[in-house]
Amino acid sequence: MSQAIEVLKEEVFDCKCGGKGVHSSFVLKESIPHKLVSSVSCESCGEKNTTEDDFIKLDFGVEIMCDFTKENGNTLMAFLNTKAETHLFDVDSNGNEKEIFSFNCDRANVDCIENILLRGKDTLLAGDKNQFKDAVARLDSIIESKRFKMKIVDKSGYSKVCPPGLEYSQIQEKNFEELNKMDPRVVHKKISCE
Ligand SMILES: [Zn+2]
Repeated sequence: MSQAIEVLKEEVFDCKCGGKGVHSSFVLKESIPHKLVSSVSCESCGEKNTTEDDFIKLDFGVEIMCDFTKENGNTLMAFLNTKAETHLFDVDSNGNEKEIFSFNCDRANVDCIENILLRGKDTLLAGDKNQFKDAVARLDSIIESKRFKMKIVDKSGYSKVCPPGLEYSQIQEKNFEELNKMDPRVVHKKISCE
């Protein structure tokens, strides 16, 4: 077993308030990707700032096409890394696709597809209600019908959609080919990370 948290460095600096601040960085190895967490905090003035980055950069990105037009995929689990883009499409009875809208992932997380859709809806509702009225109505209809296509684009290469019945912790070490064989509705494809 390796350490879940590996402290890289910790240093004390003079905060602008006159007190002593501490800058620390550590590697969180809880799951893949390991995250490099840097934090600055000052006990005197309470200033605190934390940033997270992938500790190991991959030399590829990933595009994940999910075709849930024939079978509901809402209960599948997915890991979306920070900055992953989710594009949602609805498909009419003639098979024509139309992109409804896209949104970005603020913070790496594991969640089920339905909650990703609901987060997308929250993003829309937080924006201009008139401008996004049609998109909200179409999103509601795909949440209801559970028949849609979704594309996830992640330059970090870490995002993955889990096959049915599996948690992210069970598939985080699997490569795209292995995952693609386990669920024909979901296709992971390497793309450039540029
Ligand atoms: Zn301070």
